[in-house]
Amino acid sequence: MPSLPIRGIGAELDDGNELRFVDQRTFGGWHLDEYTPGAEGGLPVSIAHIAADPFDPAYDPAAVVEVLRRKDTEIKRALLDQTVVSGVGNIYADEALWRAQLRGRRRTKGIPRAGLLSLLDQARSVIVEAITVGGTSFDDLYVNVNGESGYFDRSLNSYGRHGLPCPRCGTLIVREQFMNRGSRFCPRCQPAPRRRTRS
Ligand SMILES: [Zn+2]
Repeated sequence: MPSLPIRGIGAELDDGNELRFVDQRTFGGWHLDEYTPGAEGGLPVSIAHIAADPFDPAYDPAAVVEVLRRKDTEIKRALLDQTVVSGVGNIYADEALWRAQLRGRRRTKGIPRAGLLSLLDQARSVIVEAITVGGTSFDDLYVNVNGESGYFDRSLNSYGRHGLPCPRCGTLIVREQFMNRGSRFCPRCQPAPRRRTRS
């Protein structure tokens, strides 16, 4: 095996094997955890609060819609909330909101159930498409096992397109700060909330 620079930490296990943690993006960490009681061995306690992702057999979009409506918060904030639904990151959220024609600052309570269901459906589709082509890599460090970047970012309709025409209506895509991240949206197809929202 070629010798590669390995960043991260490792531990020798009781059986003599070595366990190593290598984190390309350096956001991660590791620790030992207890399991919750439950079917199929339960979940590690520290992640038991994390909601199902759209591919989990336990995922129930109709139930998520009810959680969203009870939250009464901005829809993008709710979509990124891992206790509501997990697996939807900032870029996927922007893309799903563009497809569902919803402004991220709209409050969940004012969005019809059908609109919320459609948004969840779009979020799932976005993730499926991203996985199919290898993710939204836009960082040289973030590559697949063959050392290749993903190409999904090239097919996004809002991310990376601020100042460029919306693929649906031609209005220029706008970028704004939201939750310390960039949000991109079409000001025409994703209309602003009718009343001013608290933020
Ligand atoms: Zn548009």
